[in-house]
Amino acid sequence: MKDRIYVNELPQHVGQKVTVAGWLHNLRDHKNFGFAMLRDKTGIEQVVLNAEQLEQLRALQLESVLKFTGTVVERKAKDPSVKAVEIQAETMEVLSPVTTVAPVEISKTDLDLNLDTLIDNRVVTLRHPKQRAIFRIQAALVHGYRSYMSKQGFTEIFFPILAGAASEGGSEFFKVDYYGREATLSQSAQLYKQITMGVYEGVYGLSYSFRAEKFGTSRHLTEFNQFEFEVGFVDGMDEVMDHAEAAIREMLTTVEKTCELELKLLSVTLPPVGKRFPRVTLKEALEAYKVEGGVDETHEPDLSPAAERWLSTTWGPKHHDCGFVFVTDYPATKRPFYVKLDPADPSNTLSFDLVGFGSEIISGGLRVNKYEEQIERLKAKGLNPDQFEDYLMMHKFGIPPEGGFGMGLQRLTQNVLGLANIKEATIFPRDVQRLRP
Ligand code: ATP
Repeated sequence: MKDRIYVNELPQHVGQKVTVAGWLHNLRDHKNFGFAMLRDKTGIEQVVLNAEQLEQLRALQLESVLKFTGTVVERKAKDPSVKAVEIQAETMEVLSPVTTVAPVEISKTDLDLNLDTLIDNRVVTLRHPKQRAIFRIQAALVHGYRSYMSKQGFTEIFFPILAGAASEGGSEFFKVDYYGREATLSQSAQLYKQITMGVYEGVYGLSYSFRAEKFGTSRHLTEFNQFEFEVGFVDGMDEVMDHAEAAIREMLTTVEKTCELELKLLSVTLPPVGKRFPRVTLKEALEAYKVEGGVDETHEPDLSPAAERWLSTTWGPKHHDCGFVFVTDYPATKRPFYVKLDPADPSNTLSFDLVGFGSEIISGGLRVNKYEEQIERLKAKGLNPDQFEDYLMMHKFGIPPEGGFGMGLQRLTQNVLGLANIKEATIFPRDVQRLRP
């Protein structure tokens, strides 16, 4: 819209005639005059209405789309350090009238709705400033990730979603009718990003993953995104973890720099990141949980959700001023066929998880890069190598020593913002019951 300015630009235009446009967030009726709270993508500002304009808006509902031309004037602010302004409206145009009452009141400071009502009414609830803020921050995380990866000279890859067979040989996948044949929705971009190691040496991307388990947790979705990463010619696993850590640091810095208002609105303080994310083996993590946390899970082959929470919200901040903890050396029984075994102890893998501010956000490690070794690993996992023909083709034609990780976008957003349920960090979540909106 030509000549339009945004709400956050108004303080620079005091005394000038401007054009603004947005949604009617709230209406205050003082009989002969009134105030329209006008919301655009940058914020909310007060527009002073004359009796005629007020009369016109009385006949409409909130969320009507309006355009005003008027003069910007200073007004008294609650906080004297802030320059507060308002617009004295001269002309008003209704760009899109709303005649239906909104199903929820989004002009309130807090929506205060249960999760299902929040998402059932997503079309409207997304407009609430606090909901908007969550996905602005999520976008900044993505921006920071891309920025870090492209600065390293890595190549962004776009992974397919439709596949002929389950990518990791698991059984919990969604089936799709594909011209009469059976296709599946991708569970992971793993095999594809490894294939690209024969070319680009370093790749990244944001993939879609679909998991058909009947999840009932606050951390799992049936459809989610992963920040993918894979790098070749690595000396060891530390190199992969270094990239994960540096990427997260840049992502959080991007959020701090570009989403100051959003963080304030959500009252969020970003997790402490210390000087270096601590790196402990699974055994060491479980031992600390026993000795310091008072819970003995040392016999377990994995971290329980409670142990993940304790490690990243208690142990990490206490000992390293850091809400992120790398946990390494998972047993071979707990890791997929493509993960490299530890040459010093083949019951162990060269793999890691990153537990971040509450739960696991990254799974990564070094990969098997040699053909014979990969055949053996597939067989050891009870999988048929004949079903992995395309995958094994890359091993035949030279793949360097390599590793990588996958990091859940919604899981990271949930943890960084301290949201109780991952669905709050998902703009249009899908779960066992939900396929709308
Ligand atoms: P979890 O142990 O939490 O079920 P996983 O070990 O199956 O996860 P991976 O398949 O290795 O996880 O996926 C890598 C990352 O993707 C995880 O660390 C997490 O951030 C995210 N992730 C995995 N499954 C889900 C899911 N169902 N919903 C949302 N995010 C997920």
